[in-house]
Amino acid sequence: MTYAIDFPGITTLPVAESHQAFPVGRIYCVGRNYAEHAREMGHDPDREPPFFFMKPPDAIVMSGATLPYPTITQDLHHEIEMIVAIGKGGRDIPVEKALDHVFGYGVGLDMTRRDVQGEAKKMGRPWEMGKAFDESAPCTALKTVAMVGHPAKGAITLKVNGVVKQKGDLSEMIWNVPETIAYLSKMITLRPGDLIMSGTPSGVGPVQRGDKLEGHVDGVGDLTISYAR
Ligand code: MN
Repeated sequence: MTYAIDFPGITTLPVAESHQAFPVGRIYCVGRNYAEHAREMGHDPDREPPFFFMKPPDAIVMSGATLPYPTITQDLHHEIEMIVAIGKGGRDIPVEKALDHVFGYGVGLDMTRRDVQGEAKKMGRPWEMGKAFDESAPCTALKTVAMVGHPAKGAITLKVNGVVKQKGDLSEMIWNVPETIAYLSKMITLRPGDLIMSGTPSGVGPVQRGDKLEGHVDGVGDLTISYAR
């Protein structure tokens, strides 16, 4: 069988220290998963159930890239996040079995057109044009569970032009990784290849043309992205 059209093909992420690639299916993002970030966005961080939005797999761009400033925004924001890569699918996954479904971890950015998202919130409209645009998901290569275990504590930071803007700890997640997988798998059937962006700590803020972003998650890796002038 051949495709009827010239199709760009599937998105993959490199697996660190390997010649293999991880094929990316869907990207699920957790909203407001660190209390300080929920507060800075004007919400009560009490343990309301987690909520999710999505990005398309082709929003991924590899760490190291220089990106054009996105269209239709004057207020692009950075959100540094740990990425969870699902290796084994399932639905109604119990919390205590959830980590068996993880292939590995990476460092990512949930780039956000905050002005577009804000307008959508105000009008009761969907968030996609604020969240799911071209090159909105910079990522590192993935590290396998064999390499990094299951990171549950450790610093998660983001610098803009060398200045620390976001600083949190993985242990501050409102819903930890196993709980997030359990919740999400009640709403949809998780598939191998799915990625979960696990939420961002406080300190989100604007990115200007010419800025250099440097993200870090202890034990998982480092990400660098620059924006063109
Ligand atoms: Mn986010």
